[in-house]
Amino acid sequence: MRTPFSARTAVLVRCVLACTAASAVPSMVPSLVGAQTTGTGRPPTKPPARPPAATATSAAIAPDSLFPYQPGIDVAHYDFGITLPGHGREFQGSATLTVNRRRSVDTLRLDLKAAMIVDSVQVGTRARAFRRDQERVYIPLQTADGTRLTVRVRWHGAPEDGLIITERDSTAEAERGWRAFGDNWPNRARHWLPTVDHPSDKATVRWTVVAPSELSVVANGAQTSHASLSSRQGFSAWQFTMRQPIPTYLMVVGAARMTETPLGRTACGSGIDGACVPQSVWTFPQETNYVPGPFSEAGRVIEMFAKTATGFPYEHLAHLQSSTRFGGMENATAIFYSDNAFRRHNVGIGLIAHETAHQWFGNAVSPRRWEDVWLSEGFATYWAALYLRASRGDTAYLGELRRMRSSVLRASVVSSRPVVDTVGAVAPMTLLNANSYQKGGFVLRMLHDMLGDSVFFAGVREYQRRFRHGTATTGELQRIMERHAARSLDAFFLQWLHRPGFAELTVTWRYDAATRMLESTVTQSARFAPYAVPLVLALRDANGATQRITLTVQPTATQTLRTPIGLIGTPVAVDADPDVGVLGDIRVERQTP
Ligand SMILES: [Zn+2]
Repeated sequence: MRTPFSARTAVLVRCVLACTAASAVPSMVPSLVGAQTTGTGRPPTKPPARPPAATATSAAIAPDSLFPYQPGIDVAHYDFGITLPGHGREFQGSATLTVNRRRSVDTLRLDLKAAMIVDSVQVGTRARAFRRDQERVYIPLQTADGTRLTVRVRWHGAPEDGLIITERDSTAEAERGWRAFGDNWPNRARHWLPTVDHPSDKATVRWTVVAPSELSVVANGAQTSHASLSSRQGFSAWQFTMRQPIPTYLMVVGAARMTETPLGRTACGSGIDGACVPQSVWTFPQETNYVPGPFSEAGRVIEMFAKTATGFPYEHLAHLQSSTRFGGMENATAIFYSDNAFRRHNVGIGLIAHETAHQWFGNAVSPRRWEDVWLSEGFATYWAALYLRASRGDTAYLGELRRMRSSVLRASVVSSRPVVDTVGAVAPMTLLNANSYQKGGFVLRMLHDMLGDSVFFAGVREYQRRFRHGTATTGELQRIMERHAARSLDAFFLQWLHRPGFAELTVTWRYDAATRMLESTVTQSARFAPYAVPLVLALRDANGATQRITLTVQPTATQTLRTPIGLIGTPVAVDADPDVGVLGDIRVERQTP
């Protein structure tokens, strides 16, 4: 079964919240002051004093204000134990962290919201007193702890976010039952997991989940064990191991009454060391008859992406109906889709392709700073468009590019903020906007067009190989692409990624029949700094003959170019940018004599 590509789902991807609702975003300004408690783990009831919330338009935000997020600390591994009771909203957790620490660092700060009550902390084998506030657990470190230490935290509580728990709260929901799904993007892991909650600190993770035996449990990585508990009637324990380091925003568990529909060993040759990539779809029993549905293409998606961006980075991939607040969330090896998309049977192939592309872009290679989040969303948007071209043809692809461009031209954030936006350092949720998605994707389309297939994909493959299971910045991508292009891309990256806006061009043309030259005057609006773009004009004469010419538009306010024309008749129509290759608003006018 093949479903038509839905442009709407492409917009819905990780964007069901109001993308520009900066005022609704909780302040991420560090709040290290205020009342604290010691040892009990119970935070003060009165929130500590905090600085005023930053807004998306604040000019005072310093770049990298949260990066390095915790200098001198690197969590290498999380070993989480989560006990889900199958009723109510409380759960119990334990986490054993393997931490590399610079010796001079005297405190480990773990992000964990106040709703989580910390029961105990151990460093090595001994209990350690700790401090607590609304946002974090502060664990003092001693010289004798060494530079690689084991920290154990036990906690419990009813999370306000991050782990989305749905109770049997209505007749309609009763048969679906109690369920819980992690939903961490961008920094909501702290609502239920003690972590260094920033994408710069990736780590491997092992999950041990205890839950009622009637539930199915899925988490990141391969399931390494599953057994009923002799010590607790009606409960089972599942263990999952994620061998590749991932950011905390991708560390999730899903537990619900679910049915697994295997898609088989798909994309053989595209996995690690040329292996196949087993995939499956997990749905609530009521939606089982919907699958495989659009997921029947899931193997072809991976095959196409593996050809263009190196092999699939993980051993397998699961797709789950879930409680994520987003249209889709690309959790490593376990993509969570919105419940409604399954209930309404409208999971689009564009959504599947977008979330699958994230397994490479965002998951295997993660943005080191939030301001580079377009490296995740822009790539996923463009790779989904490339899948559309490969599977649906050029007309569908050009239609998608037009929709992307139109989203960019309509979005006020594009006119006011650059794609690489330092606002993200304090309010990453505000970066779910047309800059990160459609503009970032379209910038890759233009880079691809400029460099050609072989150079562009060779550069992307090196970027994937170099930073696989690590993190990257926009500058690092630029340097790799420059090496493959054998030229500087400074001007390209500057105008498209580090400045707000898009090209606003008016082309006025006149044909000189005596010399058979087309005279084109290109005027750029003063709203944005002028752009350098190659602009294709498609000419047609009265006989219906056509010719294309390319104007090399310089970054100047106005420029006149004369181009020899091979048409026999006088051009009667000139169209700009027929292949949707320029991110701009382009008007064409015939000069009146
Ligand atoms: Zn995305």
